[in-house]
Amino acid sequence: VVDLGMPSRSVITTCAYCGVGCSFKAELRGDQVVRMVPYKDGGANEGHSCVKGRFAFGYATHPDRVLRPKVRERITDPWREVEWDEAIGFVGTRLRDIQARHGTGSIGAITSSRCTNEEVYVVQKMVRAVFGNNNVDTCARVCHSPTGYGLKQTFGTSAGTQDFKSVAKADVIVLIGANPTDGHPVFASRMKRRLREGAQLIVIDPRRIDLVRSPHIEAAHHLQLAPGTNVAIVNALAHVVVTEGLADLDFAAERCEGFDEWAEFIARPENSPEAVEPISGVPAAELRAAARLYASAPNGAIYYGLGVTEHSQGSTMVMGMANLAMATGNIGREGVGVNPLRGQNNVQGSCDMGSFPHELPGYRHVSDDAVRTVFENLWGSPILDEPGLRIPNMFDAAIDGSFRALYVQGEDIAQSDPNTKHVTAALEAMELVVVQDLFENETAKYAHVLLPGTSFLEKDGTFTNAERRINRVRPVMAPKTGKHEWQIVCEVAQAMGYDMHYDHSREIMDEIAATTPTFAGVSFDKLDKLGSVQWPCNESAPEGTPIMHVGQFVRGRGHFVQTAFVPTEERSTRRFPLILTTGRILSQYNVGAQTRRTANVVWHPEDLLEIHPHDAEVRGISDGDTVSLASRVGETTLRARIVDRMPVGVVYTTFHHPVTGANVVTTENSDWATNCPEYKVTAVQVGLKQSA
Ligand code: SF4
Repeated sequence: VVDLGMPSRSVITTCAYCGVGCSFKAELRGDQVVRMVPYKDGGANEGHSCVKGRFAFGYATHPDRVLRPKVRERITDPWREVEWDEAIGFVGTRLRDIQARHGTGSIGAITSSRCTNEEVYVVQKMVRAVFGNNNVDTCARVCHSPTGYGLKQTFGTSAGTQDFKSVAKADVIVLIGANPTDGHPVFASRMKRRLREGAQLIVIDPRRIDLVRSPHIEAAHHLQLAPGTNVAIVNALAHVVVTEGLADLDFAAERCEGFDEWAEFIARPENSPEAVEPISGVPAAELRAAARLYASAPNGAIYYGLGVTEHSQGSTMVMGMANLAMATGNIGREGVGVNPLRGQNNVQGSCDMGSFPHELPGYRHVSDDAVRTVFENLWGSPILDEPGLRIPNMFDAAIDGSFRALYVQGEDIAQSDPNTKHVTAALEAMELVVVQDLFENETAKYAHVLLPGTSFLEKDGTFTNAERRINRVRPVMAPKTGKHEWQIVCEVAQAMGYDMHYDHSREIMDEIAATTPTFAGVSFDKLDKLGSVQWPCNESAPEGTPIMHVGQFVRGRGHFVQTAFVPTEERSTRRFPLILTTGRILSQYNVGAQTRRTANVVWHPEDLLEIHPHDAEVRGISDGDTVSLASRVGETTLRARIVDRMPVGVVYTTFHHPVTGANVVTTENSDWATNCPEYKVTAVQVGLKQSA
């Protein structure tokens, strides 16, 4: 319940929901937040906000918060509330004991994109310097890891190219696999403003999202493709650019490499719109018209979301979009670029901080001797030069018996990761699961230790948003748990015999700046002075870098990659004739751990299965009926909503509630390069269970 009385003080901080990274003035009376007022000088939001940031902060004081550590020997035992010292000692002793019996590589950790850069940095440091391996991964594994891979291969760095403001200069916007109205509402407002001013919109999405047709906005083209055919579509667009003489040959010659070979590949008949039409279901004429519109625009900008990355060819598609942008010269100035709409508040930051098992902070490979030496000298520990385990590898190794303990920082893997049965089997197989979280979530059901985390209102650090903007997260109140999350990790490291110690989170940022060239110019003082900065922020860009790849790509020359379309193995069959795809809704957030504990839940109290009227009719399903949803890996039950937003043969649901658990049915299929799960394509059957 929010008391709307007059505030007595205020603190500027950052929203902890999506990757837009809106700044807010938290207004307090005493210790109680009475209002979250969007901050007019916020670099990402300029005074705007959505219903999550503005109203959905009550979870921070919800009675479900875990405020004291809990321990148990077996997951069937009841929890025992203990003091911090006992809980941390328990974790340290067990981790060392497991390593002594099963080897250094038998333990690992997962970092959270909901935590601050500083909190994430210390976890990867603990894994590398104390665990003595590279078994650290981030929840970005299951969302934007293909972005990291694809943009690094083509442009040289794993991040979006533009600041949000840049959209105001775009003449044609290509929106692929993203629904910013629900997922990134404040950025959606900027985009809609530009569209109302006359910019043209091309939507590439199996679902007819609001932006296809809404008041004062009508997309020039909606390429309503069959799920799983993104790469065929982007290749067809590029084919038109190359074969109709629309390519920017000067840009390709001066700024890029590999254009001629790529152009020869993309001009092949199998990439033509006519060849792609039967694969994707998109008429060739529409593909040609959309390609001409984008290529002939003075400024063409690509924005994309998880509908690009969460596929077996997620990384290929990211590179395909980069090819298209380079071929048309749409990189390196305002109004253009290739821009991921990042899901979580700090998913960019968690990747920047070295949470991938193959990369140290700043996206530098663990095999790089010079980079390893910097950290080894500072940390006083050797760092392995071989990549560690990714999240799905950890699960597989747990079931095989070689991976025995997992430290999970603020991610509910038992709800968010695909094929729930496999995930929980892996968790059950481990000797020790440590969960550091605000709530006793689904994963905690399989945990032996629950270490209470802090909400964003208690954190002191930084988040990095989708436009690489590093925002300050300032504490509005002291940690309700008695400890900052970075302190917990330092104390676990100490319990394992390693001296990890900081007096304040600003010292962690100073260490990041000292070791990571793209952050070299970042400090809390600078952030307090400038409000925020976009990395790279260093000697050559002391106030940050809003637009990347100006004049030269980070890797030198932009790299064209041949992106052959390979159909996913997940096909509809007689037994599973429909294709399920998933997404989010405005009022809720991811697995709902936070938003379900706020008043926002009334707007979306359950996940619904959207089904086309034709598919419903042949199954005897009416609106509101309870239906079964089954795939080859699992089955769940939810209510049907009959809408024609999806094409015939495709169904859709959200994944905000644990009871209905969409991930019970999603499979182990994943991106070939990064193992990002193929959440967006699951063959399913739907049947009537109970009439409304
Ligand atoms: Fe928070 Fe995203 Fe909404 Fe901004 S758009 S208020 S960052 S949820």
